[in-house]
Amino acid sequence: MENCIFCKIINNEIPSNKVYEDDMVLAFKDINPQAPIHILVIPKKHIPSILEISKEDDTLIAHIYDVINIIAKKENIDKTGFRVITNCGQDAGQEVMHLHFHILAGRKLGTKII
Ligand code: AMP
Ligand code: ZN
Repeated sequence: MENCIFCKIINNEIPSNKVYEDDMVLAFKDINPQAPIHILVIPKKHIPSILEISKEDDTLIAHIYDVINIIAKKENIDKTGFRVITNCGQDAGQEVMHLHFHILAGRKLGTKII
């Protein structure tokens, strides 16, 4: 998708600090980390938000959770814990209209969402 910053990251038009990649999914470090570990997991398919996920994306969405598991183990946060967040729309403060899953970890996250 033209003018989508995350599509540009997928296409290597914008650099990123990648932590995982396969044919369906990319994960990279958030440029403005809100915790010691802050990783974004995104589908390579351009899906603007949760609202545009369709039945044909079932395998992709399930795979994203597999990848989150792999990353949690790789980053050694599987024992200490982590939080997964997806913002959707204005009130949630979604800034990038390409579906993404924040993985936050590395400190006690408290009761606030981020
Ligand atoms: P959201 O508010 O849920 O849409 O989150 C968007 C996230 O993308 C924010 O946490 C930003 O810091 C992050 N972000 C924006 N541009 C980049 C980039 N070029 N590389 C890595 N993370 C980015
Ligand atoms: Zn995109």
